[in-house]
Amino acid sequence: MPVIAGNWKMHKSGEDAISLARAIRTGIADGIHCQVALAPPFTALAAVANEIKGTPLILAAQNVHWEPKGAFTGEISIPMLQDIGCGMVVVGHSERRQYFGETDATVNRRVRAALNSTLQPIVCIGETLAERESGMHHSVVEQQLAGGLDGLTGQDLLRIILAYEPVWAIGTGRTASPEIAQEMHGAIRRWLSGKFGKEAQEVRILYGGSVKPDNIDALMLQPDIDGALVGGACLEAESFLRIIHYRS
Ligand code: PEP
Repeated sequence: MPVIAGNWKMHKSGEDAISLARAIRTGIADGIHCQVALAPPFTALAAVANEIKGTPLILAAQNVHWEPKGAFTGEISIPMLQDIGCGMVVVGHSERRQYFGETDATVNRRVRAALNSTLQPIVCIGETLAERESGMHHSVVEQQLAGGLDGLTGQDLLRIILAYEPVWAIGTGRTASPEIAQEMHGAIRRWLSGKFGKEAQEVRILYGGSVKPDNIDALMLQPDIDGALVGGACLEAESFLRIIHYRS
């Protein structure tokens, strides 16, 4: 089943978080044809969990540490996220890579830890504009896949969700065309197929990067696009609901 995930980033607290979650809950009352995940900031997880209890909405965190507990000031562990009701966690978002020193090796530690728990990791990959313009985009993404998924089995692959997010399309309003996105999604699936085998056909590969109500339908028509990771357009219920109710 396709996945539409909303990454709230460092937005929404208190009543704002509750009312956004409530509006999404109300807007899906007639049913959804995909899995929908909400990834509010850590401080809003409990309030959003309370708001979406008993609905098909999935609570997701934006990051997680690989150790279950210990002297790691400022970090949040998997048991903490499970305790609060998270079912998914975003790992390796390009903003974490760009500003907070995330590497393929640390992505791999987070992914493995999540796979040893009930949390489903949404693993983000994607090239910068300079990498695409110099023709390195495929090798960059392959390197991120090789490093981030190192040591995983085909069975593990079935439990992860990938998100291809070209950095040049994130928050810029410059979305990849459906054809450009499909070309990379197809390449990712071929790479996974070579490494893991038949499970690659089933792994869900989300597209992320300026997904909006007016481009979601065309993106979802592509054969290897299995959903979307949405930033800016998930902060308003109306636009996120239109994306959730995409037509294809
Ligand atoms: C994101 O942060 O994952 C993202 C895709 O952001 P935006 O939709 O704003 O480009």
